[in-house]
Amino acid sequence: MKPKVFEAPKLVPITRALTILPKLKELFMKNSFRLYILIMFLGIFILNGCSQAEVLTPVSTPYNAKSGAKLNSSNVSVSVSTPYNAEAILSQTIQLKPTSKKNIADKSRILLKHENSYLATNNRYEIELNESLSTYDDLLLKTFYPVKEESASGSQSCYRLDSEKHSIYSIDYDTATMRLKMRNNWGYDRDAESAYLCFNFDTASHTLTAAKRYTFNDGESTFEEDKNFSPSSVFYDSAHAYFKLNSSGSKISLYESGFDFSVPSDFNPVHSQGVPNQRVMWEKNRTESFSRHRLSGDKIQKDINSIYLPQVQVAGNNTETRAAAEKMLKQITSDLVGSGESLRYSPAVYLAFRNGLLNTKLKGSTTVNGVIEQNTVPYVFFTNEMDGSGVRHPFMVLTSYSITDMPSRLLDVPAPPGDGKGGSYPDQNVTRDAILQTYLIKIPLKNYGNVSSLTENEMVETLASDAGESHHDVYNHASISSIGVAVDGVMIYPVLNNMLISTQRKAEITNTGIHVGRGMGLHWHADGHGATGNGLNLYNLADYAGKSHPPLIGFGFDGIALFGKYETAYHDMDGVQDLLDSFGGHAHRNYGYHYHAHAAPSSVIGDSRDYTLHILMKGAWIGKINNIPEFWKGDAPNVAGQRNRYAGDR
Ligand SMILES: [Zn+2]
Ligand SMILES: [Zn+2]
Repeated sequence: MKPKVFEAPKLVPITRALTILPKLKELFMKNSFRLYILIMFLGIFILNGCSQAEVLTPVSTPYNAKSGAKLNSSNVSVSVSTPYNAEAILSQTIQLKPTSKKNIADKSRILLKHENSYLATNNRYEIELNESLSTYDDLLLKTFYPVKEESASGSQSCYRLDSEKHSIYSIDYDTATMRLKMRNNWGYDRDAESAYLCFNFDTASHTLTAAKRYTFNDGESTFEEDKNFSPSSVFYDSAHAYFKLNSSGSKISLYESGFDFSVPSDFNPVHSQGVPNQRVMWEKNRTESFSRHRLSGDKIQKDINSIYLPQVQVAGNNTETRAAAEKMLKQITSDLVGSGESLRYSPAVYLAFRNGLLNTKLKGSTTVNGVIEQNTVPYVFFTNEMDGSGVRHPFMVLTSYSITDMPSRLLDVPAPPGDGKGGSYPDQNVTRDAILQTYLIKIPLKNYGNVSSLTENEMVETLASDAGESHHDVYNHASISSIGVAVDGVMIYPVLNNMLISTQRKAEITNTGIHVGRGMGLHWHADGHGATGNGLNLYNLADYAGKSHPPLIGFGFDGIALFGKYETAYHDMDGVQDLLDSFGGHAHRNYGYHYHAHAAPSSVIGDSRDYTLHILMKGAWIGKINNIPEFWKGDAPNVAGQRNRYAGDR
């Protein structure tokens, strides 16, 4: 295994990920199926002890966005907490030491400094001069992403400047006042007014000049050069206190923030320079406004059985819906006990996950038809339906747009999935934008047990069978679609793609481990935290402080909880000595059996290139799915929002 290379950013403390231990585990487990069986049975044994745990109110934390729960049973304290979400992270402080930069480079990150302050966008999409650079919010509002204008090649190259925080906006100007402003060029609201300036930087005079301008052709969904525009420089008008275009420019210096936004080598082991393919215009996909979306407004309430309505009175979290959810979970627990069955985990684990999901809100304009402050998961509710034989099958149901609250810079992806149209990959357009999805996901609450062999779970289709591979393993005996859901509501997909190649090897993902496929829906494929540790991932090092176990970051559709990886900086956490089995999970004390994100050498998937896999979930489920009703819809898990009795439909 190659040592992980990353330049330590000058930020909050960062530690190297604990990569050695999982590697030993992998190698060990490969030869030790018996031990895995032992661990599994131990897991089931511990689970039964765990379901009796008392439910306590979530522990208060420095940020209300974070939820946590403590389980106390048999004198053992177990801590379950969800990661800080974007809302919390944006106000966290970072120590940045910006360094000067000579020139603008395509798809890099720049700060534009004037005197002692920076050119910044604000949350009203205005451009201002602002000095502060102490929080993540400051960093994202002041960082701009230069994209080289392809049509300008031949003549002198110039760069569009997109906002890092509001990435569907680029710098343009107001033609009446000449004042610089942000324009929505990549979102649902783009129109005939949409336009961007194309800049170049003069290293000798330290001036930024808008060399060209491009305007949006609403009918064709393309940008065309504005022939009426004549080059002008960026000038700070101190009388008005704003930046504007002018015949002479003010002195501006280029800086690098010191925050590492780059795609790590493990996520681009083939050193792809980035494909030149055109961006798929989202208008080609069926896209509707946020307000017309099925999960917006009160459309969901109309579909739901009235006994679940108290849990979904409002989108997001509030006291009443939380009380209704707790009440339903109590009922479910006692109904299961009555039939000699049990929940897989303590109610507190599900309530912590529910709170984490419902507290996640979109903070940046990064999604085509998303809106700031919308919930990424508007509703979570617990159902308690019976099958024809009177057996109960309770679920935690979540409605999700599958969008992340963190910046998802899809333009960074070196080789994104193609649109599948127009022959071979070089001729296809590639996906660079995320649109709202519609998911109705149900996580089984009941303990259906774990499989005792890899192929015991009956799959309609697997990555292996789909690719004509007869050898099945934990990576390819997996759904051809999603396998779980993360605490931000974004779907989790297997390590391998449908060609049985890792998305890391294909350089298909961002530095956070996310991307969009043909339907422009975001999904996680890899553990960005394990790869970069950069503070803007699904979970981050800050989530470990004061905790006794890594954060709860997701659930598999098999009902198994997913936690973050073990970190060397927190070497005495619960379960750190308990090896992960071949499915990437373990059981310790009264946590019950659960998965952990972890690292493994690329050789475990038979990849001839040497890099480290940063795994969220491998692919195969250990939780037994055969008795979970309405589990499949066609050849994929039944999560796409179809009518589904166990999800509480009328
Ligand atoms: Zn994918
Ligand atoms: Zn653990």
